[in-house]
Formats: sequence, C-alpha cells, structure tokens
Amino acid sequence: MSNRIFDTLKNIVQNVNDASTLEQALDITVQRIRQVMKVDAVSVYFCDANAKQLVLMATDGLNPDAVGKIRFNFDQGLVGLVFNQAELLNIKDAHSHSNYCFVTETNEASFHGFLGVPIIQHRHVLGVLVVRQTLHRRFSSNDETFLVTLAAQLAGAISHAEKMGEVNRLIEGVEEHSYNMKGIAGSPGIAIGDALVLFPPASLMEVPDSNISGDEIEEHIGLFRQAVSNVENEYKQLSRQMQASISAAELALFDVFGLMLKSDSLIDAVISRIRAGQWAQGALRETISVHVKKFNDMEDAYLRERAVDIMDLGRRLLIHLQQQKVALPDVSAPVVLVAEEVTVSQFAEVPLQHLVAIVSTKGSASSHVAILAHALNIPSVMGIDDLPVSRIKGQKIIVDGYGGQVFVKPSKTIIDEFRRLIREESIINAELSELIDLPSETIDGLPVALQVNTGLLEDISPSIKSGAEGVGLYRTEIPFIMCDGFPGEEEQAVIYKQVLQSFSPRPVTFRTLDIGGDKALPYFPVEEENPFLGWRGIRIMLDHPDIFLTQIRAILKSNIYGNNLRLMLPMVSDVAEVDDAVSLIKKAHRELISEGVSDLAYPQIGVMIEVPSAVYQMQALARRVDFFSIGSNDLTQYLLAVDRNNKQVAELYNSLHPSVLHAIQHIVSIAKEYNKPVSVCGEMAGDPASALILLGMGIDSLSMSVGSLLRVKRVVRSFTTGQAQALAKTAMKMEKASDIRLLLNTSLDDAGLGGLIRAGK
Ligand code: PEP
Ligand code: MG
Repeated sequence: MSNRIFDTLKNIVQNVNDASTLEQALDITVQRIRQVMKVDAVSVYFCDANAKQLVLMATDGLNPDAVGKIRFNFDQGLVGLVFNQAELLNIKDAHSHSNYCFVTETNEASFHGFLGVPIIQHRHVLGVLVVRQTLHRRFSSNDETFLVTLAAQLAGAISHAEKMGEVNRLIEGVEEHSYNMKGIAGSPGIAIGDALVLFPPASLMEVPDSNISGDEIEEHIGLFRQAVSNVENEYKQLSRQMQASISAAELALFDVFGLMLKSDSLIDAVISRIRAGQWAQGALRETISVHVKKFNDMEDAYLRERAVDIMDLGRRLLIHLQQQKVALPDVSAPVVLVAEEVTVSQFAEVPLQHLVAIVSTKGSASSHVAILAHALNIPSVMGIDDLPVSRIKGQKIIVDGYGGQVFVKPSKTIIDEFRRLIREESIINAELSELIDLPSETIDGLPVALQVNTGLLEDISPSIKSGAEGVGLYRTEIPFIMCDGFPGEEEQAVIYKQVLQSFSPRPVTFRTLDIGGDKALPYFPVEEENPFLGWRGIRIMLDHPDIFLTQIRAILKSNIYGNNLRLMLPMVSDVAEVDDAVSLIKKAHRELISEGVSDLAYPQIGVMIEVPSAVYQMQALARRVDFFSIGSNDLTQYLLAVDRNNKQVAELYNSLHPSVLHAIQHIVSIAKEYNKPVSVCGEMAGDPASALILLGMGIDSLSMSVGSLLRVKRVVRSFTTGQAQALAKTAMKMEKASDIRLLLNTSLDDAGLGGLIRAGK
C-alpha cells in the first residue's frame, strides 16, 4: 500500500474514532470511502442476529431513505453471499451473478461493478462493506487491499459499539436500552446494586467525564471554590517566600496567577460546566483545555507562553480537588464499586456492609483485587474493558460473578430473575454453613485438607470461621504492596506472628516474596519487555539476598506457636534455585540461633510447581524438599503460552486443558513416589468442577479463597474416592477442555450440586 493510501486510511480511522456516535462514524466512513476510491456508491450492512438479517446502516450513493429499511436474509443477494462466505467478492457486473437480487428501494439497478468485503472481529462476521460503480468494472487489487484493511479497522469500532448496546439501539431504533457485557469472572456470586464509580487521581488532561445529579451540583461548586481559595493562598505564600530572592518584575508574575484565579472567564466557565452536569474535576479539565488552546493559538510569543501558566494553575486546582473527598453518595443502599482499575484502597473507601459487588475494566481473575473480593465473598467481574465507566454512575447494575457478566440498566424481568437467583443463593449458602464443623472427606472417608489462600489480616477471622485447616498459600507480597518501602524484619515479624498465632496449631505456608510479572511493588519498579518471562519470584530474591534474608529471618523468628510454619518458594525453574534458597534459609536459621533465639524450629520447605521446567524436574526437586504446591494459575499460563491477564486471549486460558491436567497427573505421581504431600493453590482449587477432578487425581490438599471453601467441601463430601477417580480417568482420555468441563459439570449436576457452579440452584 502506498504511503498516501496508508495516510488516507489512517485519517479515515481517526475520523471514525473521533465521531461521537456510531451513526456519525458510519456516515463519515461511507462518504470518505466514496471520495477516496472514486466510486459511485458505498454502503455498510450490519448483522441483526435476532432477525437473522443484514440491515443497511449507512450509505453514500444509494437511496438514503433505504437506511434501516433494506434487509437481506443471510443467504440473500451478493451482500448475503459475502456475509455467508466471510470472503471478499469482486465482480465486474453484479447483474450477471446468480446471487444477484434486484432491490428497487435502493436504486441498485444502476450499478454494475461490485466489491464487497466482510467486517470480521474475532472470527465473527459483524457486517459487510460494499462499494459499487455504475460502469462495468473489476476493482483493482489496490482497491481490494484498501477496503479489506478499512473493514478490519472498522470491525473494532463496530464491535465496541455493539458491546455498548449502540448497534442494537441503531438497528431497533430504541433510545433507552439496557445492555449486558461480558468480562472475566473474578469471584463467584451475584448481586444487584447502584453503580458507585470511583476515579483514581489522574493528571489534568486524563481526568474523565462524569455526570453529576442535580442535587450534587452545589456540592461540586463548593469543592471548586474551596480549591480556588486554597490555590490563592498557596500563590500568596509562594510569593512571600520568593520576595527576598527575585526581582519585583518577576514577583509580579505571582500577581498574574492571582488575577487569573480571579478571572471571571475561568471561574464562571468551570461553574457553568458544573451546572450543566459535569463533575468539578471534569469541568476544570474542559475549561483549562479551552483556555490553553486559545493561548497556544496566539501570534504573540509572550502570550503563547501563558498557556504553560494556565496549565500549571489547572494542575494546582486539580490537586486540591483530588484531596477533597466528595461525599460518597447514599451508601446506605447496596452499591457496586465500578472503576477502571479498582484498587485495594478504594475498597477501604466504601463501607463493606453496603458493598455488594465489584466491576473493574482492567485485571483478571488472578488480579489481587479479584483475589481480595473472593476472600471477602464479594462477587466481581474483571477485564470488562468496553464498559463506559464515566456514563454509568448511579445506574442499576447486576453483577454475575459466575459468568463474568454485567447488566447495566437491566429490565424489570431481568432484575426479577436475578432476585430469584439471589434468594436461591442465600438458601445454598445457609445450607453450606452447616458444613463448617464437618470433616472434609469423601463419602468413603478419604480426607482432603481444605486450606485458604490469603495475604490479608482481614481474612484470618473469616478463614477460621469457615473451618479452614490452615493456610496453603500466604502471599507475602500483599503486606509488602501495602507498605511505602521494603518493610524491615521486625515490621514483617509482627504480621507473620499474628497469622501463625491465629491459625496455630494449623499449618501456615508462607510463600517467599513473589514479585515481578504483574505484581509490582510501587517502590521497586521493574521495567521489562516481557515481565512474565523475566525477573520474577525466586529469581529476584536470589539476586537480592539482602531482601530475601530479611524476610526469611522475620518468618523464621515468628515460628513460636507450636512449629506450624511451612516455607514455600515460588517460580522455581531450576533445582539450583532451590539449593541456593535453602542455603540462605539455613544461614538465616544459624544466625538467629547464634543471636540467642533458642529452640527455633526449622520449618518444612516446599516448592511451587508453576513452571513447565519444574514439572520435568520433579524427581530432583522431590529429593530436595518436603512438599509441593501446584500454582495452577502460572502453570496454565506457561504451559499454554497464554498471558493470564490478557483479555484478548482469555478464552484460551483454561486450567482444564488436557496438557495442564497431564502435567498435574505427572506431578502427583512423582510426589507420591517420593512420599511428598502435594496440594493445588491456584484458582482451580476453588472451582468446584476442577476440585472434583483434582480429588480423583489424588491431590492431598486444596488451597483456595475462603469464599470457595464450603462449596468445595460440599463437592468432596458428595463423591466417593472411586467415583472421583473414575471421572478423572475418563477426563484424562478427553482431548478438549470444553468436553472435560462438560463431563465435570454434568457430574456435579447429577449429584444435585448444580448450584455450586452457576447462579441459583
Ligand atoms: C499460581 O500461580 O497458581 C499461584 C497460586 O500464584 P500467584 O497466583 O500468586 O502467581
Ligand atoms: Mg504463581
């Protein structure tokens, strides 16, 4: 493609992205294509899946009155052919084609040359883009390339609009429409609440739009006026501080700032934007950008420079606005916390008793927020990146944490249906709570220890109440993430002691600091091209024995509540790492003893099996350690070469993939041969269907978020060892994860446990 054509293409795509509605975007597209390709007509058809038809959505050249009216069945006409074959069609004379279908309303009869391309996104044909010429004409290969490339670009915009309900709205001509969107199931459960949208502090030009209601307007004006008066004081103080060191002329600059702050055009403009329903931060951003643009456009160089001052002023005002807390709206009602990236501190802002669910446009089931939500029994949906966060404030939202679905502005029928499911859920939960004091064992009496994954002190009490038999995975990076710098030995020991004491005599498995990959410490940034294959887990610790030894010393000296400590090493990919880590652990132990800490029990040491190379070194590892824990989250990621956080490939990420199961089977068989206990502590341990197959494979214990514990106990107590083994044997012969999932779900359904894997009973 020539540079010129490429630029034209980029320009069209840019225009489409800048359009404020889908309708406008389509109109721009057809007009620009007609100009650039010098054709006589351009049209776009969308797939109306409900009616199984293709609808004319925009045209330049055909009869505009036919838009929204002309419909083809999927197998009808040349447009239907392009759709059905999902292939380009380039014909000199449309009339002579056997599929040609004569349509009067569009005045198609006057066109002969036809070039149609499918609009495809993720294997789905969303529509068809067609150019037509009055003359007989076979389009050139350059024309084909241009249109195919454009269709591929358009697909993204249409698919986005489709998710936002805009396509439906256009097809059906309905103004108000509820819509549902699919993300990633973060933590199970369902909830209904009003969207409470929180924005993190942003730099001025990135402040998002957010609508406020009529009764919030005065509050936001008040916040803005307060920010103005704070900044005025700030400038006065700065000016006083500078008095001694700068000239009077330079000092006068501070007065200019003061004047700008008093300028009606700035203050009034912000206030009138707030009155129009924009929140204070958004109104400030809009006003400052208008002013900055005005100054930037000025001829006079001195005045142009003032744009920088206005920006500075804007930033200062924003800092004050962000420091002031906007009173949370009526949080006596159930709320769904919605944000682009929900943070742990945002959790703290919302009273837990009213927080019914979490929706985050970023992240996945293994993000820390999802793990925290799971621990607190709050349903969550992650990675729902098309959600129009700034437009859904205060709207009713249903969150289905099983299916990873969110319904915005649901209809009454959907609300009623979900209310019924929630009632059924609470019956199930009440039934589950009867299992707390019963042992986790199969019908024929085989015990399977159920433990919790944690890293938060808040989890301790719910974990103990749920009957957990210990901590199978304590993620030590969580307390590290909450500090402002690497915590010292004593600071760490206070936390570790609390955990060990609370669970004693039950075992607590501390995983040594596992940072890197998607787990960054704010004070220890690691920039890498390929972080999941980079400096992670044990690799960082061995390169920083200072940090490692401090942590090990803190953990070892906390082991004073009956020797219930176990130590676990993450991301091991080579036996040398275990040897080096063990010698550091021994060194720390010796040091503590020589410092006079007597009777310091040496803990059991285990490794996580989460990297394929470790799977194939099981024998060598078994000779070195006391236990194994399968980190199925990472093991799945590395075996399948699927980034666990990438939504684009989320459908490929599946811990029931036969390769993952065969790897687990191998791990279990070697662990048994060496008489070493083996557990699973990845998310699959808490998934009732996966837990069933793990049981059949001979896993000794399962460690999961506390919210899943009783569900999994119900599964363990509902099958005999023989049944679980037979299921595992059948599953291991299957070739597809979907077949394995179906087999396990059917077995749960047959055992009357369908309510554990989906909403409702
Ligand atoms: C895992 O990888 O399965 C695991 C438990 O560790 P994390 O999710 O913390 O990487
Ligand atoms: Mg891991």
